[in-house]
Amino acid sequence: MAGIYVHIPFCKQKCSYCDFHFSTTFEKYRKQMIDAICKEIELRAPLFLSNEPINTIYFGGGTPSILHQHELHQILSTIHTYTNSHKVEEITLEANPDDITDENLDGWKQEGINRLSIGVQSFREQDLQWMNRAHTVNEGKNALLLAQKHGFDNLTVDLIYGLPNLSNKEWTNHIQRLIELKIPHISAYCLTVEKKTALHKMVQHHELKMPDDEIQAQQFEILLNTLEKAGYEQYEISNFSFPEHHSKHNSNYWKNENYLGIGPSAHSYDGKNRYWNFANNSRYIQSIEQNSQHYELEQLTPENRFNELLLTGLRTKWGVNKSILSSISTLTTDFNTKLNDFIFTKDIEMNENEQFYLTTKGKLKADYIASELFV
Ligand code: SF4
Repeated sequence: MAGIYVHIPFCKQKCSYCDFHFSTTFEKYRKQMIDAICKEIELRAPLFLSNEPINTIYFGGGTPSILHQHELHQILSTIHTYTNSHKVEEITLEANPDDITDENLDGWKQEGINRLSIGVQSFREQDLQWMNRAHTVNEGKNALLLAQKHGFDNLTVDLIYGLPNLSNKEWTNHIQRLIELKIPHISAYCLTVEKKTALHKMVQHHELKMPDDEIQAQQFEILLNTLEKAGYEQYEISNFSFPEHHSKHNSNYWKNENYLGIGPSAHSYDGKNRYWNFANNSRYIQSIEQNSQHYELEQLTPENRFNELLLTGLRTKWGVNKSILSSISTLTTDFNTKLNDFIFTKDIEMNENEQFYLTTKGKLKADYIASELFV
């Protein structure tokens, strides 16, 4: 089963830590962009998916909750017209708390959205201020209550840890708030300072001091322990859920299923190639309008596929299977030695079927371990 990702590349304002592709000039391109997105679906979906059923649709960004209901309707009807969407089980919309109103929630329900991903990020006002988020702590809390009141039980909330001056106690309280609200899915990310962001400048100018690695690691462990005690399962390094509440869409990525990415900067994957849509709004619109190629194509070598499987698989509870890896590329002596070393240091465990996973200790350095095993 395949999935469709739609990237809405507009935000009300620029968050200081963000390096995603978006623009704050929505009004200028609004209609053109929605039309281009629909045209891309019409042009690409029938060929790319060849009538393969899709089971998930995901609106990400940027800020998809910025869309008017009729725009969302236009995109979804185009998807339903040009794809085999009879088996769609999950339609997710990323929403910022300041867009969560009675009117929007009713509209999203009418359009068939059945999962909301709410970007709360922090329950400390001072964080939301330096992050330049468009909402307050109260708006964040009220948004969750309002969404639940409207029957959106399938909620996921984003939180960030490893923030400047965030104590372990405060971080525990942030997690507890979501537990008390019985939020069924939580995505928690460690703050990273990306180049060319306002946060990068603030850190360089000593206006903000990042915590050291030890504190970030402690907060990761607090996250694991607190959520585990509350009945959540960590099914991916940054993703936790009650049973039956995994993100179907993201699980498709991690299980190496095909997906079609629509909109500027969106990626697609068909098992052999990766496609990268132009990450420039006007260039994207122009190319779509002129029927010229609007993406770059990367043919994946066996080495690329091997490494990607390791990188994504090791981040999940399902882990990676040695025989699947060996069917893609020969397992070298170096790979086997390193794998055994990680098993010896208890960073990795392997079962009798040669399926191997990261231990809690290993999860603290998942990307490093994966890169050590790369071919
Ligand atoms: S709302 Fe999301 S995508 Fe937009 S700037 Fe903020 S973090 Fe980035």
